[in-house]
Amino acid sequence: MRTLQTSVRASEDVAIGRAFVVRRATVKAQHQRGSDSEELQLFDAALALSTEQIAQMAESNDIFAAHLEIVEDPMLREGVEAHIAEGEDVVAAVESASQELVAMFEAMDDEYLSARAADIKDIFARIQANLAGGVVNPFEGVEDGDIVVDTELFPSDMVLLDLSKVRGFVTAQGSTTSHVCIIARNHSLAAVVGLGNEVLQIEHGATIIVDGAAGTVIVEPDNETIDHYRLQQANIAAMRQEQQSVAQSELSYNGEHIAVMANAGSVADVEQAMAAGADGVGLFRSEFLYMQSTEEPTEDAQYEAYSAAARACGGKPITIRTLDIGGDKALTYLAFPKEENPFLGWRAIRVSLELRDMFCRQLRAILRAATEGDVRIMFPMVVSLEELLEAKQLLEQCKASLAEQGVAYRSDIKVGVMIETPAAVFIADTLAAHCDFFSIGTNDLVQYTMAADRANVKVAHLYNPYSEAVQRAVCQTIGAAKRAGIECSMCGEFASDSAATATLVEAGLRKFSVNIGSVAKIKYTISKL
Ligand code: PEP
Ligand code: MG
Repeated sequence: MRTLQTSVRASEDVAIGRAFVVRRATVKAQHQRGSDSEELQLFDAALALSTEQIAQMAESNDIFAAHLEIVEDPMLREGVEAHIAEGEDVVAAVESASQELVAMFEAMDDEYLSARAADIKDIFARIQANLAGGVVNPFEGVEDGDIVVDTELFPSDMVLLDLSKVRGFVTAQGSTTSHVCIIARNHSLAAVVGLGNEVLQIEHGATIIVDGAAGTVIVEPDNETIDHYRLQQANIAAMRQEQQSVAQSELSYNGEHIAVMANAGSVADVEQAMAAGADGVGLFRSEFLYMQSTEEPTEDAQYEAYSAAARACGGKPITIRTLDIGGDKALTYLAFPKEENPFLGWRAIRVSLELRDMFCRQLRAILRAATEGDVRIMFPMVVSLEELLEAKQLLEQCKASLAEQGVAYRSDIKVGVMIETPAAVFIADTLAAHCDFFSIGTNDLVQYTMAADRANVKVAHLYNPYSEAVQRAVCQTIGAAKRAGIECSMCGEFASDSAATATLVEAGLRKFSVNIGSVAKIKYTISKL
């Protein structure tokens, strides 16, 4: 029996099963180098075939819509062309271009963007396979109850793999935001990622235990250990079942309705949130739409996405937050200045109020989509009344232009503000007089209140939502909203912490917006108050 350990949190489930160690055929196309144009022709054929395959998968899977944009980006072909011009054959040129692009993405500070390096690798692996004669399924032979073990799992693997057979994943690489983790959490599968090369020593067919919450993989466990984990599995299942019993119910406390909504970043998230019993979407992070694309999504494309999200809510409220970019989130197509302190710099509403045309395209798209559901609009990182008034003024201008053009839109759309800076807390009463709701963003509020970077492990002990300063900030905000008679919700991760639920309800919070996997847990906790 031996144990492998990581600190990356992938999913909370436990699995016991047979290790299916993926053996990927190394696809090295053997061929005689031709002229530059012949090499490029071979690449173009493989690229066209890959694009066709991805386009087909994109019809039923959101992940591949993003792949499609990458594979169609001229940058990809240009990279390969440059290496062919330098004398490499097509196989080597694809490998070199792949390594360059992957390194570029991996170097990005933002965890979400750096995780996209996996998408690039995935696309290049497909092109390489097509160059060598076709894509093969590395999961041939996966049996019911297997745990898939691999260096890295790619988004397209999830299409080749029959998820109903698999109990979990173990990978050498990967972070919490890797696709494999998202898929694992969404399907309640166990996963441990980022274990390093030790993973390669797991034998195919070995019995392994994957404890997602602890980040451990136990290889060839003894009977006592297996019994211990079987009990843990039974406990998790029993707890989930109990939580599920209230997931679809309406909740109240002292006669007042309490909403448990979910945070979402895509239409697929919204669908999943509704299935999980969410009472709406309290935070739709619109930046994912911008980040998944290699250029700014057009007003029409945004309208399509927001209205699809609104329809997926089936009449329940959905709050769309305007672009929250900057800080740790970048856009490949937008030049950001080099900043000493990006979190104190050009981000969120500051960017929108400067790039007004871009902002107005988004506002118009939201106003139009609001005809298809209970859509609300929310501004991130507001620190002054002036910012709110300026944003509202632009919103009015967008309404006027839509009216003039005879385009349908919702004129009485509700407007809210994220309370995620101490400045917004101090002036909460002033802001409340000019908006319809607040949403407390504890992820940022904690970092700005405690002056502790949310991603810096050295100050992680200070990044504490339970600290007195943060608790006072939260209570002041709820109080200001109550006095002004406006709604107040919380959409930061603190809302998903069941240990805090009772205190928050006591403090007067009546709307929670939590991660999708926590909807049942938080509803259950509230039902027991
Ligand atoms: C927050 O800051 O709490 C929040 C919900 O926004 P984000 O995590 O997207 O910054
Ligand atoms: Mg925030």
